[in-house]
Amino acid sequence: MAEEHSYDLVVIGAGPGGYVAAIRAAQLGLKVACVEKERSLGGTCLNVGCIPSKALLESSERFAEISSGLGEHGIETAGVSLDLGRMMKRKAKVVTTLTRGIAGLFKKNGVSSHFGHGRITAPGTIEVQGSDGVVKLKAAKILIATGSRSADLPGVEVDGESVGTSTEALSYPEVPQKLVVIGAGVIGLELGSVWSRLGSQVIVLEYLDRILPGMDEETAAIAQKVLAKQGLDLRLSSRVTSAKKKGSGCTVEVEGSPAIDCDRVMLAVGRVPHTEGLGLDSIGVEVDSRGCIPVNDAFETSCAGVFAIGDVVAGPMLAHKAEEEAVACVEKIATGYGHVNYDAIPSVVYTHPEIASVGKTEEALKEEGAKYRKGVFPFMANGRARALGSAEGQVKFLADAETDRLLGVHIIGPQASELIAEAVTAIEFGASAEDIARSCHAHPTLAETLKEAAMAVDGRAIHF
Ligand code: FAD
Ligand code: NAD
Repeated sequence: MAEEHSYDLVVIGAGPGGYVAAIRAAQLGLKVACVEKERSLGGTCLNVGCIPSKALLESSERFAEISSGLGEHGIETAGVSLDLGRMMKRKAKVVTTLTRGIAGLFKKNGVSSHFGHGRITAPGTIEVQGSDGVVKLKAAKILIATGSRSADLPGVEVDGESVGTSTEALSYPEVPQKLVVIGAGVIGLELGSVWSRLGSQVIVLEYLDRILPGMDEETAAIAQKVLAKQGLDLRLSSRVTSAKKKGSGCTVEVEGSPAIDCDRVMLAVGRVPHTEGLGLDSIGVEVDSRGCIPVNDAFETSCAGVFAIGDVVAGPMLAHKAEEEAVACVEKIATGYGHVNYDAIPSVVYTHPEIASVGKTEEALKEEGAKYRKGVFPFMANGRARALGSAEGQVKFLADAETDRLLGVHIIGPQASELIAEAVTAIEFGASAEDIARSCHAHPTLAETLKEAAMAVDGRAIHF
């Protein structure tokens, strides 16, 4: 007979949604277990997403800078070479340090882990199929945090080798001479940048006539110019009809264009919620047309006592969005209160320069017919950016024309991922552009660009 355990809350999935929910629920006094089908905690984010991609972005940026970007500082370099094996080992170490850290946090907070595939068999019952057999869990509440997987594209035969997804692209054993990336979204541009910096010829095929759909158009257009200048071959309005293995490499067919032969293909046309084999039918929960599990504002599904958060529900597929939902969901379960402010969720693309946004895009405001004022400040007019030698890009503030309340901030420039935090805090606190304009910012800092953009909303930027 299967071993049986009983909990207040069982979380399925140990990504940033699941592990954060488990820890917070334990802090709130619940008896919690987390079920994970992989041997390592941390989900997509820590194992094959945010963290390994950022480790490689960092390493490849240093390689590119040392190889060709230090001359203007008066630093001559010679004999710079790449040891890809070591770069990959460093990435793996960053990942294991963090995933083991979560195991430590589980231990410290008294969260039990069950490794194996979790399947809901009835309300309040989960079966975990592990390597040693089946374990049965009883739970007063169940939280689904099973995340997402790479979306398929008809005609593209992913073989996990020459034709793969971001997971393979995080571990290529050699620098491909020619890499075709399908999709000019976040993954395509981040990992395309990594391999381009390491020496690949990178062709990015994008179906739409722009890159980074959903992002503020003016900001995305600047990104397009800068990335093209860096050597990414961005081919817009390109509809891929097939990609498959050919000899030792692969071939990609694009409607109306000659086929492209290359060494590797990375498919990055979005991600889809992961609900396969989860047993949703046993509790009468149906997914929507995009495969997301529908939930109410308490993150509860149509089955009472079963909740869902993160990539498996609607909204931006971001680790920090999953974490916010995790905390709000379990706080609501344990205390009756908890909410997420979806207007204040930042999004970042870790290219060089970085791109970061929070709040409404200018297009969304126009579509709503909202009256807004706009302030723009370029990094080329910022002393710190000049000193860094990284003065491409701008900060754009969008504020309500009547109340001056901050509606959106869009940054492309050095350390945009860090700078956006100030804008997030401002939006969370309902601040006006004037609030930022009147706050003293240390000099010389990149953050002064936010103050200047805020002043530009009122037509009074000092340095531009
Ligand atoms: P996941 O992290 O996907 O975790 C779900 C977990 O559930 C997985 O461990 C899975 O194995 C497990 N699971 C699934 N089904 C079962 C089951 N039946 N039984 C047991 N376990 C199960 N986001 C950012 O915010 N910043 C970034 O820089 C960023 N970079 C990314 C780079 C890449 C290459 C990719 C692919 C994604 C990136 N993301 C980034 C997105 C981010 O990884 C996801 O939004 C985030 O991981 C979602 O968290 P989650 O907990 O909902 O799901
Ligand atoms: P995405 O939605 O960002 O981009 C997919 C791109 O593929 C879009 O530009 C889309 O127009 C294009 N596309 C779709 N069909 C196509 C086709 N047939 N041919 C050519 N192009 C096509 O998706 P992604 O880059 O795969 O990333 C998936 C998710 O992971 C995103 O939602 C993102 O939020 C998350 N992610 C976040 C980060 C980050 O926060 N820095 C990094 C990586 C991934």
